[in-house]
Amino acid sequence: MAYSNLEKKRLYHKLYRQTHKDERRAEGKRYRAKYREALAIRAKLYIQPKPSPAEAQRRKLQRKEYDRKKYLNRREYYKEKARQYCLKNSFYAMERDARRRALKLEGQIEKINYRPLFAVLIGGSGLFCNWCGEFIEPRQISFDHIKPLSKGGLHIRENLQLLHLMCNKLKAAS
Ligand SMILES: [Zn+2]
Repeated sequence: MAYSNLEKKRLYHKLYRQTHKDERRAEGKRYRAKYREALAIRAKLYIQPKPSPAEAQRRKLQRKEYDRKKYLNRREYYKEKARQYCLKNSFYAMERDARRRALKLEGQIEKINYRPLFAVLIGGSGLFCNWCGEFIEPRQISFDHIKPLSKGGLHIRENLQLLHLMCNKLKAAS
């Protein structure tokens, strides 16, 4: 069996380690004894002390600044990523936005599973707007609180319906 040079070298070192165990151990011991102080200093440098609260705060701000710059440098990329996420999870995003609005108004919150909710809403009215009665294209869908949050409506399943985005705005304005 032919070995390459590298393999030969590896085999040689492996054999050496196996046959010179005690010598290698003794050598290590000598080395550590000789450079005891230097090794101690190096260990101390390696294990850094816990930063003071002020220092920790400074580092946190530094990280934040770094993240901000990273975002600003690739703003379009991150915006597009967020947009893609929202498109992919638009029903979730809609439910989340509605929930946040409810939270702001200190309304009652029920975290609703958006997929079943969506199925129920479609099962109820089909993909038809409860405001104008027309068919809703998927990208026109919006969740609407039947009794508005601003008037004490709740963010619960029974108080949600599907409307056109535009109809939702018109309803809110009326
Ligand atoms: Zn409509």
